[in-house]
Amino acid sequence: MRILVAEDEVKTANYLQKGLAENGFIVDTAINGVDALHCAMSLEYDLIILDIMLPKMDGWSVLQALRSAGKDTPVLCLTARDLVEDRVRGLELGADDYLVKPFAFSELLARIRNILRRNPTPIQESIQIGDLNLKLLQHKATRKGQRLDLAPKEFALLSLLARRHGEVISRTVIAEQVWDMNFDSDTNVVDVAVLRLRRKVDEPFDSKLIHTVRGIGYVLEVR
Ligand code: CA
Repeated sequence: MRILVAEDEVKTANYLQKGLAENGFIVDTAINGVDALHCAMSLEYDLIILDIMLPKMDGWSVLQALRSAGKDTPVLCLTARDLVEDRVRGLELGADDYLVKPFAFSELLARIRNILRRNPTPIQESIQIGDLNLKLLQHKATRKGQRLDLAPKEFALLSLLARRHGEVISRTVIAEQVWDMNFDSDTNVVDVAVLRLRRKVDEPFDSKLIHTVRGIGYVLEVR
């Protein structure tokens, strides 16, 4: 199985390449839309993972060019924005699935396998952990039915922890996934963000969901 990863963020591209290779895929990478289209047109792939915000030619244009050239290679779009109109646009242009950053690698893998089986499942729309509910499409979080007023980054952080609940997520991974950048020098940013998130998600409630794992990172789980 051969996959083309079109992603300009070097860290994300490397992470995807490594993870997919470990799972037995042959992976090519393209760092801009022009290269991605060239590869996709000249080689046969089983799947293309296509970042939307790409230099030279964005993912939408790549997808459109592919489809109008009659190439029906399955495409999984990656985007930093979680907007309903983006999803609709992607599906209208012929994307097979759509994943919003930050995502868990295991989720990406599950989506890929679904596409490859040509048996797509609906996009995950909500996560329920204890009394916490996240509506991913609407960016809405509630506990005990009570709306949590979260800033976009706080929602992104909470959804990362929630998607991978029960799993300890390191500060580095959080920094990469939520801010799409490398905070090696200042993981304090993560701690401050988690502190703010806890004030909204945990403080008003008896049971705490976000836990610190000393020296490693954070985990969201019902204890
Ligand atoms: Ca990008």
